[in-house]
Amino acid sequence: MDEREKDSLEQEKQGTCGEGGEDEYEKVCYVCRRPESKAGPMITMPGNMHLCHDCMQKAFDSVTSGNLDWSKIQNMPYMNMNFSDLKNLNIPEMEIPKKQKVKKRSDDKKLEFELKDIPAPHVIKSRLDEYVIGQEKAKKVISVAVYNHYKRVYMAAKGGDREDVRIEKSNILMVGPTGSGKTYLVKTLAELLEVPLAIADATSLTEAGYIGDDIESVISKLLAAAGNDVAKAERGIVFIDEIDKIAKKKNMNTRDVSGESVQQELLKLLEGTRVEVPVGSNQKNALTPMETVNTDNILFICGGAFPDLEDIIKERLSKRSSIGFASDLKDKYDNDPDLLSKVTAEDLRAFGMIPEFLGRLPVVVTLQKLTRDLLVKILKEPKNAILKQYVKLLELDEVRLEFEDEALEWIAEEALKKDTGARALRAIMEEFMLDIMYEIPKDPDIGSVIITRSYLEKKGGPVIEMRSGLLPHA
Ligand code: ADP
Repeated sequence: MDEREKDSLEQEKQGTCGEGGEDEYEKVCYVCRRPESKAGPMITMPGNMHLCHDCMQKAFDSVTSGNLDWSKIQNMPYMNMNFSDLKNLNIPEMEIPKKQKVKKRSDDKKLEFELKDIPAPHVIKSRLDEYVIGQEKAKKVISVAVYNHYKRVYMAAKGGDREDVRIEKSNILMVGPTGSGKTYLVKTLAELLEVPLAIADATSLTEAGYIGDDIESVISKLLAAAGNDVAKAERGIVFIDEIDKIAKKKNMNTRDVSGESVQQELLKLLEGTRVEVPVGSNQKNALTPMETVNTDNILFICGGAFPDLEDIIKERLSKRSSIGFASDLKDKYDNDPDLLSKVTAEDLRAFGMIPEFLGRLPVVVTLQKLTRDLLVKILKEPKNAILKQYVKLLELDEVRLEFEDEALEWIAEEALKKDTGARALRAIMEEFMLDIMYEIPKDPDIGSVIITRSYLEKKGGPVIEMRSGLLPHA
């Protein structure tokens, strides 16, 4: 059975299941792509095609008035065919649209969780601790912000948004160097809260109408991550990475379509609005069904490395101290590892973020550059630490793998040189572990391997112990 046949069978199956007892998914009009929640009841045609009343009426009108443009039909061969006929077609370039399933949403704001189901900040933090090393302050701030966010969602669902005190949205801005764990923190958070997560890159976003993804594409991604379940997506998390890349460009003569304009367009989304997004695609066209998603309860986390931000902070701080008595403290901040945590909205504005945008990200979290000791901890402590993974792999060969502390320090030092944070660790490990993973299974008599610093520095070999207590073969 070729791909196309499989596809059409799959589509048929999906269609029949939509009409059977399992009525979870909406029917979508085959012409205008509106779901039945928008277009009203559908007329089902042979081959499980659905048509809304409007399109049916239009079709009748054009036939009776003789205005039907039959030439168009050639370009849309699937319009006058059953799905079962599609397999007979053998036109390679013809793209057969896939049916998209859209989960029905109920109008009553039914809550699927109770207040007690929202984990308390200390619980969230302790779960994050299992995976994310260091960044204590960031983990604490995020745990509280997330807790408050979901309390707000709960209140809104209970109709509490009509009360006098409205809890504002607590979207988060994360500032930290590359590889310090921004994305990892958000991923871990979404996993432990069991909510859908979409990760988007701000560099690919452009103002609507220009080449690139438009802003709504991030919501499309979230909807896909939620399995096209709108209600689920509406409680998800969107992480927009590289947000510093959409800073206002300085000295621009042309329109800033990927900088300030993107910030402007993101405003509404961050604040809470209804957006029409294509389902199962990041492009709007006549063949993809559209869904309305309310971003009111979606938690937006924006992250970026903000290079040179430290200079801006330093300049502000030293300007202040250059007046009066403290003027001799000018280079006091030069080696301050904690400088980033002194960031203010003023600094971010000087960087190129517009005030309205910053206003919609009230929680600002800074992540520290990872030190050598933290990198060593990252190697061995998290639940899925790289070291634990290698130990497990060799355990299956009944070989014990150990690392000398000095060896781990060497790896961390090498990673620091690359200046990409914890990201460099895996690549360094993989490079020298390749030989170990290749050689060890050759000799079933090997019982344990100890990786030493001198092996990593290429001055010696690993310490190998045989099961029989004999010395290893040369
Ligand atoms: P960025 O800050 O650039 O988004 P990432 O979160 O993508 O960095 O980090 C890259 C990888 O490094 C992660 O997948 C994770 O394995 C590891 N990592 C980074 N920071 C930490 C940390 N603080 N604790 C544990 N692992 C980390």
